[in-house]
Amino acid sequence: MSAKQRVPFIGANWKMYLMPDQVIPYIETIKDQLPSPDQAEVMIAASPLYLWPLLDHAKGSNVIIAAENCDYHDTGAYTGEVSPKALSEMGITYSIAGHSERRHYFDEDPEIVNKKVHALLRNHINPIVCCDETLVRTETDDDVHWVVSQVIAAFKNVDASDAAKMMIAYEPRWAIGTGITASAEEAEEGCALIRQTISSIYSPALADTVRVLYGGSVTPKTVKALMAQPDIDGVLVGSASLDPNEFLKLIHY
Ligand code: PGA
Repeated sequence: MSAKQRVPFIGANWKMYLMPDQVIPYIETIKDQLPSPDQAEVMIAASPLYLWPLLDHAKGSNVIIAAENCDYHDTGAYTGEVSPKALSEMGITYSIAGHSERRHYFDEDPEIVNKKVHALLRNHINPIVCCDETLVRTETDDDVHWVVSQVIAAFKNVDASDAAKMMIAYEPRWAIGTGITASAEEAEEGCALIRQTISSIYSPALADTVRVLYGGSVTPKTVKALMAQPDIDGVLVGSASLDPNEFLKLIHY
């Protein structure tokens, strides 16, 4: 399968930025101006506070409403956590897992991210696993690149049929929220490495079907060159997704 056969994916990650009065006007601005799902999938990942109203207002449109994070337990005494089972029952079909900010500020190690992947898959939610990269390309004892080791950990004990439902985002930490987009070549290098890793865990055929995304200071100006790369199937966008008109420009790059 060539890159062109994988459906392009444009995802917004609002993080903790938007306030309640901004959410409905945002979705109303974009919802009738989106490509058909076979041309490109458009997703908004939002705080759990906003998922109900977003799902409601997005009904009948082509926008996918997603979670930014969740717990790895389905239900129970976990005060303040977000249940993947509840997300699924609400109609959520995608969730980010292991975003760099979760790994960095909330100590999510690769094992926790893998538990979240399993929790999402068992609840029929497609995980979008983010693999970050620090300033230094650290290598582990067995000489495994840090990005590669995160990919391997994310897919641990995931069978091939479930792996095909996942997306992996290459998000260099130095590019997230800094205004420094990786060059198209740097981003391609990271995404190609991720695809090769998936190929060696499963098969080249499976790696060809999994969408690999780039994230880190993507803007309407940088998106086109990124999307032209053979191994970049989509982008995950933070800052440039906070204004609906800016996000629309990015979608229609
Ligand atoms: P950014 O965030 O676009 O603001 O760099 C990207 C992300 O964190 O997914």
